[in-house]
Amino acid sequence: MTARLIDGKGAAAELRAKVAGEVRRLVAAHGLTPGLAVVLVGDNPASAAYVASKKKMSAQSGMLSFDHRLPGSVSEAELLALIAKLNGDPSIHGILVQLPLPPQIDANKVIEAVDPNKDVDGFHPLNAGRLLLGLPSLAPCTPLGCIKLARIVHPSLVGLEAVVVGRSNIVGKPLAQLLIGQNATVTVAHSKTRDIPMVCRRADLVVAAAGRAGLVRRDWIKPGATVIDVGINRVTDEGGRHRIVGDVAFAEVREVAGAITPVPGGVGPMTIACLLANTVKAACLSAGLPQPEL
Ligand code: NAD
Repeated sequence: MTARLIDGKGAAAELRAKVAGEVRRLVAAHGLTPGLAVVLVGDNPASAAYVASKKKMSAQSGMLSFDHRLPGSVSEAELLALIAKLNGDPSIHGILVQLPLPPQIDANKVIEAVDPNKDVDGFHPLNAGRLLLGLPSLAPCTPLGCIKLARIVHPSLVGLEAVVVGRSNIVGKPLAQLLIGQNATVTVAHSKTRDIPMVCRRADLVVAAAGRAGLVRRDWIKPGATVIDVGINRVTDEGGRHRIVGDVAFAEVREVAGAITPVPGGVGPMTIACLLANTVKAACLSAGLPQPEL
């Protein structure tokens, strides 16, 4: 058996087209153009590439995009002052501070400084709490993307056995909450879990978000299960070439899974599309308009 490939690129393009349609509607009906501010501190090349891609995609969907680049030496106070300014700017509906931040800056303080209604990354404790309680919230983009990809294969996740490998605040934990919200039965496995292969083998849906290249092996997967690979790991092959691989040993797992996301071209593009969707939702929130179905 060879698993079906879940086309993250295609699904992301579809979602971006929906977002663009919603932006046109908001402009025409309410004179409201959603605006996204992206803050990049320092010159980490991976962060710069993500930011460039977010900026390009937001402009393509008809939103306004505001770029703020600060030197890696910027003080915490200067960054917090910029966030306060963006919080107070009515043309900005979404604020994203690209992580990681340099060591002189407390990332938690920065996350808490963002107005929760403009927190399109869904990292603010208020949004995390609302997600936990099942209240309307801005939820983190990568987990939202994972849910949308899983639902291509399983239109309903009700009763599904789901295992999330990884318990970070930005992927594993919020994903577990979203899956519970979809009525899946959720297990969170992590670096201290005993016998992870056994835990994963009972899953209908495995989401790997550990940041360990090729961690998930063929014998971890129940035949026919769906595998979503969040990992982005840079590895060097024997020829000295750099490649990006996921947390799943793709070639061998593909032989046993029912469906699988590729890396690249799976979760990554969906993350950015969900960021745009969150920005439209935040714009509606600010204007007291109903949330669009995105
Ligand atoms: P993180 O380092 O904050 O968390 C990793 C989690 O995995 C931890 O909870 C840890 O307990 C667990 N873990 C580590 N080693 C493990 C092991 N051997 N077995 C089981 N669990 C283990 O990472 P993160 O920020 O959650 O990101 C995870 C991966 O997803 C990274 O590769 C990251 O680059 C990628 N990522 C991708 C996107 C995207 O858009 N595709 C977005 C965010 C993160």
